[in-house]
Amino acid sequence: MKIIMLGAPGAGKGTQAKRIAAKYDIPHISTGDIFRANIKEGTELGKKAKTYMDQGLLVPDELVVDLVADRIQKDDCKNGFVLDGFPRTIPQAESLDAALEKLEQKMDYAIDVDVPDENIVSRMSGRRACAGCGATYHIQFNPTKTEGICDACGDKLILRDDDKPETVQKRLDVYHDQTQPLIQYYEKAGILESVDGTMAMDDVFEAIVKILGA
Ligand code: ADP
Ligand code: AMP
Repeated sequence: MKIIMLGAPGAGKGTQAKRIAAKYDIPHISTGDIFRANIKEGTELGKKAKTYMDQGLLVPDELVVDLVADRIQKDDCKNGFVLDGFPRTIPQAESLDAALEKLEQKMDYAIDVDVPDENIVSRMSGRRACAGCGATYHIQFNPTKTEGICDACGDKLILRDDDKPETVQKRLDVYHDQTQPLIQYYEKAGILESVDGTMAMDDVFEAIVKILGA
């Protein structure tokens, strides 16, 4: 099963992608996570990506398309994968289609997690990420047992630099301008599904499982 998660930043793509990956035993491929890991390790890719990410801008297509094309050919992807945060532009979607065509494969579902802008601001400003294992929480909607400490690994939680209020609006503008057109792209391709992302996390997941089949 090959799935794309669509939706605004903070809509809950990562939250749902992790659950999908666990339930269907397929890898969760998050380009944002890949960039953040590269930043942490101080790689050249990380240094380049950070300059864009900190401004709320998209990293240029050429820095991301080959990376994903390589990743989806790894052994663990043979039963499928869930893409989170990729594609984010029409050229990225076209290059994904081209990479899959070479492998004689196609995406099965593009699931749009639909959340209006007014909810997005509180989703992003309340998001906390574990500095160690990358688990994601929300101060109001999904709090940890001990404030500021990751339930999974005990490391400390941080506010992502790009979740600071001054960057959130920019990221939303970029989403509407460059990423939202993908909804129509995948509608035309006949694989678009939409879920109401304003529901509680468990209900959103239930709606997704209904689409994918148990
Ligand atoms: P994305 O991957 O789309 O950027 P996340 O999955 O990281 O978004 O979710 C953004 C924030 O909103 C996180 O803090 C997460 O815990 C919270 N969140 C995710 N889904 C929901 C939901 N259905 N209701 C309330 N909060 C949610
Ligand atoms: P995310 O974790 O998906 O919210 O991504 C965080 C940031 O990483 C984005 O705001 C972009 O700057 C960058 N990024 C992640 N995925 C992509 C992508 N597919 N194309 C361009 N930039 C990306």
